Amino acid sequence: MKLGFEESQAAYSSGSQNARNWTEQWVRAQVYCPNCGAEAIKPFPNNSPLADFHCVTCSEEYELKSQRNKFSNKVLDGEFKTKCERLAADNNPNLFLLNYDLKQLSVINLFVVPKHFFVREIIEERKPLAATARRAGWVGSKILLNQIPLSGKIYIVRNGQIEPKGSVLSQWSKTLFLRDEGQDARGWLIEVMKCVDAIGKSEFRLEDVYAYEKQLSQLYPGNQNVRPKIRQQLQYLRDRGYLDFVSRGYYRLKSDR
Ligand SMILES: [Zn+2]
Repeated sequence: MKLGFEESQAAYSSGSQNARNWTEQWVRAQVYCPNCGAEAIKPFPNNSPLADFHCVTCSEEYELKSQRNKFSNKVLDGEFKTKCERLAADNNPNLFLLNYDLKQLSVINLFVVPKHFFVREIIEERKPLAATARRAGWVGSKILLNQIPLSGKIYIVRNGQIEPKGSVLSQWSKTLFLRDEGQDARGWLIEVMKCVDAIGKSEFRLEDVYAYEKQLSQLYPGNQNVRPKIRQQLQYLRDRGYLDFVSRGYYRLKSDR
């Protein structure tokens, strides 16, 4: 993988439209599919409205968002209603987020959010556009990056350094089990993953997760049994190889993160 844009591309001028062009061509030429590892990511013909790229080998689909500055916690996205419908239908693509440097004409960060981390909780509804706007009443959305657990943000390039491909592929495969679950079950698992991230230790106790009981009750006001629900998620995460039970009430994250 080379991080620089092709010189022939870079030659014609600069500006954000060209940057879009460069980043698309760069993904096509340099990025492997994080699902199967094949160097076979191709653009869809004629700007498909749903995704930008697909893997020729495994058919996984990707959308690309690129910008010069680092992404903040909220990333602008398309129409809110369409976004929610796609989540429900499960045909949301995986999302590549790319930052580049226009002086060096090269890629600084590229990470991918696997589609199974897209649950309703990470999509924020924006205010309708004002009556004076060209698309008056149109309601957009934002993706809340800070609501995605660490394991849902897989870096392929970080601060100008290429991450080992083996590590990217193993991080990807580690959470594929989420695809077996519906929106609601995934929501709970993802919330517990976020609690474990917030604890910030590779080994932790059940009590550490219980510390988030109140926060989880606020998220799921209908659920009166948050503690059993937490234990159930931890058990599921152990069964799917995301973490280990060390001893009663003690857990350890798998170390390949
Ligand atoms: Zn693939």
